[in-house]
Amino acid sequence: MEPNRKSYDVIVAGSGPGGATVAKEMAQLGKKVLILEWGNKAPIRGWMPQFIMNAGIPGKSLLITNNLLGMVRGIVTGGSSVYYYGTAFDPPVEMLKSYGIDITKEIEEIRNELPTSPLSDNLVGPMARRIMESAVDLGYDWQKLPKFIYQDKCKADCWRCNYGCPYGAKWGGQMFVDEALENNAEIINKAKVTKVIIENKKAVGVEYKKKRKVHQAFAPLVVVAAGGIGSPMILRESGIKGAGFDYFFDPLITVMGTVDDIKGGREIPMATGIHMEEEGYMMTDMTVPKTLHLLFNAETSKDSLGGRITKRGGVRKKLAEKDKNKLFKGYARAREILANAGAKDIHKSWYIAAHPGGTVKVNELIDSNLKTEFDNLYVCDCSVMPEAWGLPPTFSLVALGKRLVKHLAGETKLQ
Ligand SMILES: Cc1cc2nc3c(=O)[nH]c(=O)nc-3n(C[C@H](O)[C@H](O)[C@H](O)COP(=O)(O)OP(=O)(O)OC[C@H]3O[C@@H](n4cnc5c(N)ncnc54)[C@H](O)[C@@H]3O)c2cc1C
Repeated sequence: MEPNRKSYDVIVAGSGPGGATVAKEMAQLGKKVLILEWGNKAPIRGWMPQFIMNAGIPGKSLLITNNLLGMVRGIVTGGSSVYYYGTAFDPPVEMLKSYGIDITKEIEEIRNELPTSPLSDNLVGPMARRIMESAVDLGYDWQKLPKFIYQDKCKADCWRCNYGCPYGAKWGGQMFVDEALENNAEIINKAKVTKVIIENKKAVGVEYKKKRKVHQAFAPLVVVAAGGIGSPMILRESGIKGAGFDYFFDPLITVMGTVDDIKGGREIPMATGIHMEEEGYMMTDMTVPKTLHLLFNAETSKDSLGGRITKRGGVRKKLAEKDKNKLFKGYARAREILANAGAKDIHKSWYIAAHPGGTVKVNELIDSNLKTEFDNLYVCDCSVMPEAWGLPPTFSLVALGKRLVKHLAGETKLQ
C-alpha cells in the first residue's frame, strides 16, 4: 500500500549513525517515524560475502576517486557503522562550538547510554599489543582507544567486526533502528530516496525508488541522513544546488609487515593508537582477516577541502601535496614502530579514503540547528560537519542526532 499523505510525523532518509539516532529519539518521543533506507535489513552474519554485497559493490558502496583512492561505505541498515571499527573518538567540541553547536550534554548522555571504554586487556589482540609495546618503547604516548563495544558479548579470538558483528557486541546504527522499530517506527528497505518534495518552500515529503518504481511518502518533517555522499545528491535534486562541493575525507595508508611468531587476523582492529595532533594525523593498529588483507598498522590524516560529488554519486577529489606529505611523515614513524616490533618486509599500501563529510556544511548550506533553506528540512550525518578534524566521526554524529531531536522537540531555541 502506498503510504498516505498524513501517515508520518517525520521521514528519515538513511539509517547510519546520524539518521538512526534521529529515528530512535523521535520514536521514543512518540512520533510516528518512517525510515527510508537504500540498503537491506538482513541479519548481520559477520562473513565476507555479505560484507561485499553491502559494502563492496563498485559504483554503489565502493567508490573510487579520480586519484584512484578507494572509499568504502555501507549501503545497509545502520550504514557504515555496520562495518566500522567501533572507535569512539571524542567529538571536536570546541570546533563545533565555534559554529554555534554545543554538544557537551549529548556527549554525556551517550557515555551513559553506550559503551565507550577501551577494550579490556584480554580483548586487545597480540598484534595490536605488540605494536603498542613497540610504540611505547620508542617513547610514543600510544594508548588503548575507546570503543563502542559491549565487551561482555565479544568472543575470544574474534575477527568478525570487520564483516559486521553477528553477536551484537559492536554498537552500530542498526541497533538504534531496532529501538526505533520497537517504538512503532516503520522502515522501508531497498528504498532509494531521490529527492525531497518541496511545496511553498517547505518540505512535505520525499520521492523514492523501490523496485524501479517511484513512490512518495509524506510527513511535515524530513531529515536527510544519507551520509556524506548520499545526502548532497538528494539535496541537489531538491533544489539545494550548492551541496556536494569542497568536501573532506580522511586519507589513509596502511603500513604492513610480517612477524614470525604471531598469526594475524583474529583481532578487533583499531584497538590502540595515537593522535599526532600537531602533525595532523593518527596512527593505529589495523589487523583485519587475511582474506580481507593483512593490514598490520595504519594511519589516517585529515585532508584539505576540495573536490565534488558528481551527479551520479562519483567522488572527484585530488589529494593535496601537503596531505601526502603528512602521510609520508606518518609512514616513516609507522615503519620505525613496526621495525622495532620485529617486523620484516615493511611496506605501505596505496591511499584509501575514509569518513567523507563536509558536503552540506553548517554555516554554508544549513544553520547551526542543521536546518536547510527550506522549512521542515534538516540534515543529520557526516555531510554537515563544517571542517575536517581527521578523526573517526561516529560519536559526533550520534551527538548531533540527539541535539537535533531536542531542537525539533522544542527544547532548544532557534539561534
Ligand atoms: C571500514 C570502516 C571503518 C570505520 N571505523 C570507524 C571507527 O572506528 N569509528 C568511527 O567513528 N567511524 C568509523 N568509520 C566511519 C563511520 O562508519 C562513518 O563516518 C559513519 O557511519 C557515517 O555516518 P553517517 O550517518 O554520516 O552515514 P552512513 O553511515 O554513510 O549512513 C548513510 C545511510 O544512508 C543510506 N543511504 C544512502 N543514500 C541513500 C538514499 N538515496 N536513500 C536512502 N538511503 C540512503 C545508506 O545505505 C546508509 O545506511 C569507519 C568507516 C568504515 C567504512
